[in-house]
Amino acid sequence: MDVHSDSSSCYNRKVLKPLNSSVVEAANTAQPTCSNYAERKNWMDKYIEAGGAWECVCPKGQKPKDPKPPCPLCGKAHLIVKVINDIGNPVEGTTVNVDTIGGSFTTAEGLADYGQVEPGTYSITGEKERTSSGPGDPGGLATDSVTVHPDETKLAVLKLCSKCLYWNENHRTDYNGPDSKFLTSTQISSVNVAFRLEANLADGNITITSIFRWGTVASDVTNAEKADTIKKFKAQVASWGNKFNMKIIDPICGEKTLPVRFRLIWSPEDTSTTAPFQVNLYKTYPRAGVTGWNIDIGYDSDVTPDSSWVLAHEYGHSLCLQDEYFYSGVSSATVTYKKADGTSDVISLEPSSGNIMYTHANTTYLKRFYYFTAIEAQELLCNESGRSVTCEIVN
Ligand SMILES: [Zn+2]
Repeated sequence: MDVHSDSSSCYNRKVLKPLNSSVVEAANTAQPTCSNYAERKNWMDKYIEAGGAWECVCPKGQKPKDPKPPCPLCGKAHLIVKVINDIGNPVEGTTVNVDTIGGSFTTAEGLADYGQVEPGTYSITGEKERTSSGPGDPGGLATDSVTVHPDETKLAVLKLCSKCLYWNENHRTDYNGPDSKFLTSTQISSVNVAFRLEANLADGNITITSIFRWGTVASDVTNAEKADTIKKFKAQVASWGNKFNMKIIDPICGEKTLPVRFRLIWSPEDTSTTAPFQVNLYKTYPRAGVTGWNIDIGYDSDVTPDSSWVLAHEYGHSLCLQDEYFYSGVSSATVTYKKADGTSDVISLEPSSGNIMYTHANTTYLKRFYYFTAIEAQELLCNESGRSVTCEIVN
């Protein structure tokens, strides 16, 4: 960001010693004569342009016997911060903060006048929140460090950059579409899935939220068993979380590594949003499974045994994940896990060691099960930033 002192606001300038000879030479070349005020002013302008050090001096217009007025700044400095947008127009209502001095808001002229300050070096930040998304919005961030000398009036100019505002905001997208965006299996055809992805760059996490509701509940299932099923389902969904992280890289704003979390909410108890998935609960069910938008489970057969392992496994299907065991009559199959960078992991079934999408009661959560979150987050953040942001699942 540019911070420069506006030397034209001070007409009593003198060079600071020791002189930098190459800077003086540059000024001499640009303005060889110094026979009047305009030429002297121009020489000083050229000297400052070339990077020469200078200071403001107190006016000396008095005759020797006149009472001496106090020097306007008395050894102090005058600091004014000006905030402009990327096309140079002043920005009103920017929150300016000058380290050790405090906060202020800019006027319609883009100015925050701090008055007299102690000479020294200050770090300055300016921030204006966006009021809308998209180009042309006046929001942005700027930071810089400025040094003010004794008796100097310093105009520090902060140019707002809007490119990284999104980097400290929360974002979300609702996915409802084919699982083939994320993976394919040679032993089963594509189905639709739904989940919400929040890229909470302000709060520091990636959160996948699913919404389920009751479908058919068998008459011999008690209310207590229903309540217990919801409680255990939520716990099993949460167990998918905090196993892996997502590394997000923005070419301008930097890098963040955030935990990936999972959350189940129930409709309509927890949310007024409608849920595409419905849970059909029976006392016992011969083979739990997800078929379309139906999740069929039995309380005695799936919720109670093996610490509700089946709920964690079926939840995986609702996200897009496929079984890694052979279906009846199949002896050769692959599951292709797509990654956000455009490559894929092709897994030949059945893999050599167990995992939650393969082996009953196994609670091994593999990195490939999380690739879909990076695909969706990368698409969301590319849209939000307008740049090639990359997302990757890391340990
Ligand atoms: Zn399964």
